[in-house]
Amino acid sequence: MISPVIVAIDGPSGVGKSTVARLIAKSLGLRYLDTGAMYRAAGLLARRAGLSLPLSNGEDVARLTSSATIEILNSQAGTRTLLNGEDVSEEIREPEIARYASAVASIPAVRRKLASLQREMALCGGGVMEGRDIGTKVVPETPFKFFLDASSDVRAERRFRELSAKGLDVKIETVLAEQRARDEADSTRTDSPLVCDASYVRVDTSNLSSVDVAEVCLAEIKKRIPG
Ligand code: C5P
Repeated sequence: MISPVIVAIDGPSGVGKSTVARLIAKSLGLRYLDTGAMYRAAGLLARRAGLSLPLSNGEDVARLTSSATIEILNSQAGTRTLLNGEDVSEEIREPEIARYASAVASIPAVRRKLASLQREMALCGGGVMEGRDIGTKVVPETPFKFFLDASSDVRAERRFRELSAKGLDVKIETVLAEQRARDEADSTRTDSPLVCDASYVRVDTSNLSSVDVAEVCLAEIKKRIPG
């Protein structure tokens, strides 16, 4: 295999990127890197600083992010997100933090810092990277790029089941509305919007299990490996 192997898994929220990326990482013996967790950590930083949504001053958030350390640690026990050395892996999963993450992700200085950290992580050892701009901005040169997609109803239903299973009291209408708002923000921002260009293999996951999607991606990866 060429080295380092970097697999980009991009797509909208709730499409099943995490499960698929983990399956591919396991099968290829690569690290799994969740770049969304880094935007969530930056979003948490903004909330902790008392900034309310919609964010009105991008410069404040950019300053906060530039002086913070945001790290992803992978170990046998799983993947953890550290913000200034504190483990925030659980806190960043709150639905409100997803809204903050999407808001800070539209600030160019925040994206520059996080995308550059992510590129360093990718080039140092490779991995399966999940996000929105991995194949367009973070590692556009990788030949292994997948854009996972599904209808918004299917995605909202999946996210609703996931949150309900965690014991959260949510309504499907709320999940759908929040997802639409995030999709809109992620695909219309000026800097690094979510787009599926011709360099991606697009996979419609609506009627496929995560294992099936991972198999489709693995077959494509094998086709692209020279020799
Ligand atoms: O993937 P996840 O839902 O955890 O991402 C949270 C938010 O972080 C997304 O809605 C998006 O706004 C932002 N994000 C991004 N670029 C990435 C990963 C996530 O803009 N590479």
